[in-house]
Amino acid sequence: MTLRIIAFGAHPDDCELAAGGVAAKWAAAGHKVKFVATTNGDVGHFATAGGPLALRRMSEVKRCAELLGITTQVLDIHDGELMPTLENRRTIARLIRDWQADVVLCHRNNDYHPDHRYTGILVEDAAVLVCAPFFVPDTLPCTKNPVFLYYGDDFQKPCPFEPHIVVGTDEVIDKKRGCIELMPSQFADKDSWLGRYLPGVPDDDEGRKNYIREWLIDRGAAAANKYRAQLVARYGEAQGNAIKYAEAFEVCQYGAQPTAAELNELFPR
Ligand SMILES: [Zn+2]
Repeated sequence: MTLRIIAFGAHPDDCELAAGGVAAKWAAAGHKVKFVATTNGDVGHFATAGGPLALRRMSEVKRCAELLGITTQVLDIHDGELMPTLENRRTIARLIRDWQADVVLCHRNNDYHPDHRYTGILVEDAAVLVCAPFFVPDTLPCTKNPVFLYYGDDFQKPCPFEPHIVVGTDEVIDKKRGCIELMPSQFADKDSWLGRYLPGVPDDDEGRKNYIREWLIDRGAAAANKYRAQLVARYGEAQGNAIKYAEAFEVCQYGAQPTAAELNELFPR
């Protein structure tokens, strides 16, 4: 059976970082994956902003989508201004319905960035409505309730992330590296967010690009170590201990509630 997965991230880089590995694995197995950035990313830079930055970021995620073998879309909502409005709830519900998603991914709603939080809230708010025939009746309802899951994060309050499924991404780590390299406005420019704020970033262009890329890749290694027990449980002792990079996801309580075996089938190994 071909699975249909839709992932929502607040900015044109969030889906790629949180789920680029699992997306590449799903796509390689013939499943259909779509990334949606709920804002156009037109603010998160120290030297440029507005339309030119939004266009640059859209072209960056389009190239990432080609690399991953998936579809991508960027909503034309200003960076830093996403709100949990009825209009946006309808937009998110339409996107999930149009995609006839089996699996929906999003941020948790405790997160440092309001666009991340509200993306999480909008997806949660749409969850109860995607099967309702008379909500946004210009789109067909989902024929079955999707499974909604959150990306991994390190926020502790009011509750820490607790993964239900962990996916080893070693086989596709070069695709994730490639995505990071395809987003210089996010991860290579001197005036990008991390170029400005990440401690220890080298001053030269090549050094900075490599440093930021590997810092981001190391987060996948941290996840593999943090959730080592789940990796061993899923992949067995030898393979589970050998996995270097991983992405983790927590089931949201608002959509379909899969058993552990069903979840294991939904996600690539
Ligand atoms: Zn973001």
